[in-house]
Amino acid sequence: MKNQNIKKKKNNDGLGKIECLIIFKCNCRCIMCSTGLQIDRNIGNNDYRSSMPFKEIVKDIDRAVKTNARGIAFSGGEPNLRRDLPMLVEYAKSVGLKHIEVQSNGRIYAYRDYCEKLIKSGVTNFVISFHSHIEAVHDKIMGVPGTYRQVVEGIKNLNDLGKKVYINIVLTKLNYGHLEEHVAYLVKNFDIQELRFTMVMLEGNVNDDPRGIVPPMSEVGPHIGKAIDIAKGKAACFIYNMVPCLVPGYEAYVNDLGQLDTLLIGPEFESSLDEERKGKKVKAAACEKCRYNKACYGIWKKYADLYGLDELKPMKP
Ligand code: SF4
Repeated sequence: MKNQNIKKKKNNDGLGKIECLIIFKCNCRCIMCSTGLQIDRNIGNNDYRSSMPFKEIVKDIDRAVKTNARGIAFSGGEPNLRRDLPMLVEYAKSVGLKHIEVQSNGRIYAYRDYCEKLIKSGVTNFVISFHSHIEAVHDKIMGVPGTYRQVVEGIKNLNDLGKKVYINIVLTKLNYGHLEEHVAYLVKNFDIQELRFTMVMLEGNVNDDPRGIVPPMSEVGPHIGKAIDIAKGKAACFIYNMVPCLVPGYEAYVNDLGQLDTLLIGPEFESSLDEERKGKKVKAAACEKCRYNKACYGIWKKYADLYGLDELKPMKP
């Protein structure tokens, strides 16, 4: 099921980033996992659809080099469940990629030896999911008790080894209300390079209980603004899956404006994030009058089906 919609950037200077979903296995059961039922819980299964062959990933790394991509991200599932991850990272480093990102639930970083190995292989950006400073909330979101303690231990290990971390906070009904406290806790206790505030998407497991998991974006926006104020000067901040009119005053942090130039590759599929947004995002008629109308793609259609378009308020030119 290859997606034919892959387009090169108009000025032909290459893709921004290639994200490789190298494994569809995971040791968590997140309530908002976007891959949902596609995730293989049988960790020992080596089915092609659960785990991309090493050679295929090497080809994708080569492609990142050929297209002058800024870098490569390894995600999944949980990419650290692949024993050959350090070798893939070493290869990416050897061919000159400067930005090598690993997106993880962070549990495995509780093992310091493993952190050392991965750092040595050449990972530049450790992106870790950490959704709440309240243990019970984080564990509930991740679906596995004990995850909070492992992630805290893991971040400490990486920090001790000289690595600042990139924290991804997915905003759901369970955690958005105390986002400010979570961010205050993070910047006080850890060395954070970047905070990613990601509005939950209506994909995968979320479809089981959309109203129980997805908060209205207009309620989430003010919390993001206050959290950014707390993090200012301590960590870089980015907002994902949000539109500028719902974070007024913080539009500059919105990542989804303009082209993303990211190619998503997984077992038996690939798609351009820019093409994905077209047709799957919608705007209100009033958006015509908004100063962001050209750069803004609007909100996901599935979200609009749940809460409508009334939250969108055009911003004055
Ligand atoms: S174009 Fe529409 S959705 Fe985008 S910021 Fe403006 S009002 Fe909001």
